[in-house]
Amino acid sequence: MNNIAIVCSGGDVSGMNPALKHFVEYALDNGLNPYFIYDGYEGLIDASIIKVDYSYVSGIITRGGTIIGSSRSGRFMHKKYRKIAKNNLDLLNITMLVVLGGDGSFRGLDVFYKEHGIKFCAIPSTIDNDIYATDYCLGVDSALNIIKTSIDAIRDTASSFKHAFVIETMGRDCGYLALVSHLTSGSELCLIPEREYDLKDYEEKFKKQMLEGRRYFIAIVSEGIKQNTNEIAQWFEKKIGIQTRVSVLGHVQRGGNPSIYDRLMAYRFVTHAVDALIQGKEESVVCYVKSGFCLKSIEEVVGKKSLDEDLLRFLK
Ligand code: ADP
Repeated sequence: MNNIAIVCSGGDVSGMNPALKHFVEYALDNGLNPYFIYDGYEGLIDASIIKVDYSYVSGIITRGGTIIGSSRSGRFMHKKYRKIAKNNLDLLNITMLVVLGGDGSFRGLDVFYKEHGIKFCAIPSTIDNDIYATDYCLGVDSALNIIKTSIDAIRDTASSFKHAFVIETMGRDCGYLALVSHLTSGSELCLIPEREYDLKDYEEKFKKQMLEGRRYFIAIVSEGIKQNTNEIAQWFEKKIGIQTRVSVLGHVQRGGNPSIYDRLMAYRFVTHAVDALIQGKEESVVCYVKSGFCLKSIEEVVGKKSLDEDLLRFLK
């Protein structure tokens, strides 16, 4: 019983393909038979499940999205379809599942585990970075890089035309993408759901800056704030007196080729997930927890640094 399958569920992220590649290679290295489940939990129900080898994952590391597809499955919410899914796995002797998805997908798999005992390990994968208990979700860095490229480009035109630009980022009720983009792009205003705001507080400052010669403003707003993005643009026009354009980045944030960081994190997440299943862990989520900043003395810092063991073990 050493058959292991991987499935992508919910919103896709850039970084899933590197994860699939490493999954196949790492499973084979460990004497497991890897399987792909296509199109999320829909494929689990429809038996779109195939045994794979190295040839399925060659050349995919540079590609965004996921070559095995993803979906939201209304049917998986119903017991009778989960029973069908379980039978499909039984027919192929698949006893271990790795899922790339968000918290909704994890909840679904948790229900599935409790009913049918299929062991799973989940890898947080969402550009929103809103999954509790992990500091990083696969896909976030690639999304931030796409946003960065977009804001840099918008800045060029904003400065040429004396315009304000209100740029809307994704994130549902989590302002992470907007906040990090604000801090790293030097925008003038950032509005996120986690922080109460009153536009009146910015009026005087922005008007003064206009009088002093400021040519443009960039505002980054998260999709989950209390006002819609057009209302923020109207405020700039009416109260600050500058022509304003809105740019909703939308699904472009999910695409693009995976960043170096996401390629590396895909390796690490997958390794920990497969290891957990091999070690018999029944239902778990791989979380990445950063220890944060600290102060150290010079003596502690001047020694020779050795390479991260967690990375070194990938070198064959
Ligand atoms: P995400 O994983 O990105 O948060 P969703 O919340 O849309 O995405 O969940 C993905 C899928 O997980 C759903 O379409 C559904 O098939 C499954 N799912 C979510 N919650 C449950 C549940 N309580 N029971 C069974 N399946 C669920």
